[in-house]
Amino acid sequence: MVKQIKININDSFNKELPADPILENTRRQVTKACFSFVKPKQTANPEMLHVSPDMLDNLGLTEADGKSEAFLNIFTGNEVLENTKPYAMCYGGHQFGSWAGQLGDGRAINLFEVEHDNTNWALQLKGAGETPYSRTADGLAVLRSSIREYLCSEAMHHLGVPTTRALSLALSGDEVLRDVLYNGNPAYEKGAIVSRVAPSFLRFGSFEILAARQDIETLNTLVDYTIKHHFSYLGKPSKESYVQFFAEVTERTLQMIIHWQRVGFVHGVMNTDNMSILGLTIDYGPYGWLEDFNFGWTPNTTDSQHKRYRYGNQPNIGLWNLYQLANALFPLIEDAEKLEAILNKYKVDFETQSLKMMRNKLGLELVDDLDTQLIQNLEDNLQLSETDMTIFFRSLGDFKKENPTDGIKIVANAFYHPTEISDAIRQNWNNWFVRYASRLQKETTIDEARKEQMNTVNPKYVLRNYMAQLAIDAADKGDYSLIDELFQLLKNPYNEQPHNEKWFVKRPDWARHKVGCSMLSCSS
Ligand code: AMP
Ligand code: MG
Repeated sequence: MVKQIKININDSFNKELPADPILENTRRQVTKACFSFVKPKQTANPEMLHVSPDMLDNLGLTEADGKSEAFLNIFTGNEVLENTKPYAMCYGGHQFGSWAGQLGDGRAINLFEVEHDNTNWALQLKGAGETPYSRTADGLAVLRSSIREYLCSEAMHHLGVPTTRALSLALSGDEVLRDVLYNGNPAYEKGAIVSRVAPSFLRFGSFEILAARQDIETLNTLVDYTIKHHFSYLGKPSKESYVQFFAEVTERTLQMIIHWQRVGFVHGVMNTDNMSILGLTIDYGPYGWLEDFNFGWTPNTTDSQHKRYRYGNQPNIGLWNLYQLANALFPLIEDAEKLEAILNKYKVDFETQSLKMMRNKLGLELVDDLDTQLIQNLEDNLQLSETDMTIFFRSLGDFKKENPTDGIKIVANAFYHPTEISDAIRQNWNNWFVRYASRLQKETTIDEARKEQMNTVNPKYVLRNYMAQLAIDAADKGDYSLIDELFQLLKNPYNEQPHNEKWFVKRPDWARHKVGCSMLSCSS
């Protein structure tokens, strides 16, 4: 008998909500239920590659637990913890603007919920095998996408962006067939399993599916459950608390997207099944980080034609998705005006919050009428020639308001093609730096204090697309050291880390058009 790990199980989702009565693991439409019981698949040769010490701690586990055989078995799905009943959640969603019907956890299996330090965490395995929601796919995940999710979700947390977390990354030991470019060239890749953690994995689509099926009774049960466990400050269920619930989800979604815009994160697949009801960044698929500042950029090749989920469109899509959630909640609220008022407020608030966020990035504490213009001009300039977003804003902290003519020198490292900076472009930048300097004269802070403040919102290190790819290429060859190196680096994204300057560089040229670096498909 293997030594068990001690963990404080506190399940509610699979106890308080209606379950699918069918227990067989066959693909089907699941009605009048929020989830189906299902066991994870046994894997050939599980191997733990990385465990997040932070998350162990959050769950009340020790580092020794993380190294134990019990931990390996539980978090690769090979052993089900006593008194727990794993399950897959039922949800639907709008994909790329169209209703897609039932989707659900096709390859995520929830293990249990844990209570520690008065916080409840749900744990789920991604890539742990088929479920009733797997449709035509295999329920598995490959190593490359699992490394991307594992590293990025923890990195986002340390950047201060609301996100689901990751506890562990493991190899399953099984091979998984994938056609990365969807061009008829399938190949076997290493299978992997990430254990993900969040207070809840409920999505907009969890509510939409019930409304679409006109199952208002289950919808009502689910909304009451969600308020009770995740928005308890809204009080007892009532039409008014349902309106407040929608207002809260709207506010959290807005804040999340403002953070994405601030750090240059592009989600890539903002379908409503990938929108967390808690306003957490969820489902790390073909996401990417802006390298050159470009509102039109999306990493997702599946979306390359319409670029629906491009960087500059994320705020609009957030709103579009909230409209779908409002429609789903309408049968419980029956007051279109109240819902519309909340949606209209999102538009106004987004403008205000976005301006505030950009002011922070520029180190401006006071409010000035000309700020909108100053920011607009900056965004125009950033797009005159390829300019690295992260390096630009981080370097701007070194700007001295007495020396506007040095501005272009200070940010020079951000330009991808220094020789293409024409006299006209140079002039535009010089003009902007003069305006920025005179705007800074209105502030009371000194240069050093401004730099310090700017460094808390302009990260020095983000998980650039090519960095994740380097870790993946090495891992494919059996070298997992870069996973840990990046994991450690991204724990302190706002700090100067002199020994890590090699990661504060523009995307190297080889990565410009490499698959996995700037272009990603949904294949995972
Ligand atoms: P995504 O675009 O990754 O958010 O996934 C959309 C839907 O497809 C969700 O219902 C997933 O569970 C499902 N899905 C994605 N990949 C797989 C897979 N390999 N096996 C089963 N279902 C999957
Ligand atoms: Mg998804």
